[in-house]
Amino acid sequence: LRKEQVRIYELIYDIYQHLQEKVNRKKIEFHFPSQHDITVEGDKDRLHQILVNLIDNAISYTSEDGTVSVDVVDHGNEVEISVADTGIGIPLRDRERIFERFYRVDKGRSRESGGTGLGLAIVKHLVDAHHGRIIVESEEGKGSRFRVFFPRNTKT
Ligand code: ATP
Ligand code: MG
Repeated sequence: LRKEQVRIYELIYDIYQHLQEKVNRKKIEFHFPSQHDITVEGDKDRLHQILVNLIDNAISYTSEDGTVSVDVVDHGNEVEISVADTGIGIPLRDRERIFERFYRVDKGRSRESGGTGLGLAIVKHLVDAHHGRIIVESEEGKGSRFRVFFPRNTKT
């Protein structure tokens, strides 16, 4: 795993550009923070992968005219990156299992994305590798928010 100071704004902007077509097709409103210099120490490609998976999910599991918002907050000892959507939400009983490999909430509602259920397992693995943590807040039918916290300085 590489260790460098990764500028989060640039990652988010790059991901937004890659997913823009899907965002436009679904008429989703995409919010992301204006230019800032917040960095996370880690492996740029892996941090990119974490955010792509979370943002791609937010878009996939949100219906037309919904909103996806990415936020970055510097808490001093930690940097928080959150991805919130106004999508279908995740039932409580599934919330702790979505990070398992191949776990999908139900085939019917997830059919559209045609995914494999690996995305969040990879996210969890990569967040752990960065000594971070991830939590999910969700309300069925209202939306979800995935919050990832990275330690400011990893002394390993
Ligand atoms: P892929 O491997 O292509 O990512 P996937 O999106 O189905 O497939 P995960 O990203 O691991 O797999 O997500 C697991 C399941 O969690 C999804 O199938 C979906 O049911 C649920 N899920 C994930 N993100 C969201 C979200 N933002 N809103 C609602 N449900 C979600
Ligand atoms: Mg996914």
